[in-house]
Amino acid sequence: MEPKTIIAVKDLVKNYGDFKAVKGISFEVFEGEIFGLLGPNGAGKSTTLEIIETLRGKTSGEIMVDGFNLDQSPNEIKKIIGVQLQTSGYYPGLNLTELIHLFAGLYNEHVNAIELLDTVNLRDKAKAKFKELSGGQKQRFSIATTLINKPKIIFLDEPTTGLDPQARRNLWDLIKEIRSKGTTVIITTHYMDEAEILCDRVAIIDSGNIIAKASPDKLIDELVASGFEKPKEVKQANLEDVFIHLTGKHLREE
Ligand code: ADP
Ligand code: MG
Repeated sequence: MEPKTIIAVKDLVKNYGDFKAVKGISFEVFEGEIFGLLGPNGAGKSTTLEIIETLRGKTSGEIMVDGFNLDQSPNEIKKIIGVQLQTSGYYPGLNLTELIHLFAGLYNEHVNAIELLDTVNLRDKAKAKFKELSGGQKQRFSIATTLINKPKIIFLDEPTTGLDPQARRNLWDLIKEIRSKGTTVIITTHYMDEAEILCDRVAIIDSGNIIAKASPDKLIDELVASGFEKPKEVKQANLEDVFIHLTGKHLREE
């Protein structure tokens, strides 16, 4: 079956004054996949995401999200996407349940806060304040906030940056679970191990240009077919495997 395109970005350009941050990129995201936007710092990942999220204006190009043109129907798009809200909006005096009710009010949605917290494994923290959470818990809560309006697509901008190996793995499981329920996921990361494990397809963006676009498997096969060889003999494990083997997979920060 042909995959259905849920996001189509065509010739997207974003200039900040004289500076060309995004230089005419095109890509498609298929319904139900985890799509990775990979690239070094400053490549234009967040700019691209925020434009699709209707949070930032573009210079030129055309964007369609689930059949809606971004220029004509931004409000329709807002209704079907889930965006990580800025943590600065997480009022310090409110607990997680209260924050969810606050955000749900903004979306005009009724949500069962405990059920939602349960999906991100934070039921125990329902009465805790955001600032009292560990890094991994904060990220999980932030992902929960993307799900409030029961979106078709969620956008995750570097959700695992700064997390320890256990918390990263825990978040991968959560992201896979969200996708298994039919939600399309767009994620940015500069961890390639993460992209390889998580993403069905990726686009690699560098200095505002997309320089590769395919499944991780295909990109690796192409590199190998081109005659690339690793300078060192590859071992059966790496230091992260050692770390996880020694310290276990369970989360520490709870
Ligand atoms: P990434 O998320 O890939 O790290 P960004 O999209 O945040 O990259 O930024 C891409 C480039 O655009 C960077 O060089 C950044 O400094 C620049 N940039 C981002 N936002 C602005 C802005 N509001 N004004 C001027 N330049 C910006
Ligand atoms: Mg960024």
